[in-house]
Amino acid sequence: MILAAHIVFASAVSASARFSLPGAFLFGLVSHHLLDFIPHFDAGSFWPIEELKAGTISARVRILIFLDILASLVFLVWCFWWLKAGFFILFWASLGAALPDLVVTGFPFLVPRLRNRPILKRYEKFHYIFFRQSRPVSLQRYRIFGNLSTLFIIGFSLWLLLK
Ligand SMILES: [Zn+2]
Repeated sequence: MILAAHIVFASAVSASARFSLPGAFLFGLVSHHLLDFIPHFDAGSFWPIEELKAGTISARVRILIFLDILASLVFLVWCFWWLKAGFFILFWASLGAALPDLVVTGFPFLVPRLRNRPILKRYEKFHYIFFRQSRPVSLQRYRIFGNLSTLFIIGFSLWLLLK
């Protein structure tokens, strides 16, 4: 799922349920894997397998990742500034929600020598056990559901925050 959906969902639930800080972090982490289980789209859906294996990222995917990060940050600033949600609960919930993708995708691309670390490989395998991403091949099958599931998660989270 897109990073923004992970962060919006984890922050909204943690802030409205008033989780403790470790609770917010844990919820972010667990919810990441649960949301990944729902058929979805993210920047990686548009990342050709050959590029993924070679460890290169095309300009198109870079732009999508950039927009995803930007949307997440705008949401967090809005929560903090307008909704007066606690800074630390937003921080820990978001860190938990973003961590699996940072470990699997973010860090190895920033620091290439991390790619072959066994612990990272193991976590990557674990991450993809729960993963139902729509790749371009299966696009037709998942197009509507993949978009709707993401919109539903974000809509539900906003409702939780604003109700
Ligand atoms: Zn993920």
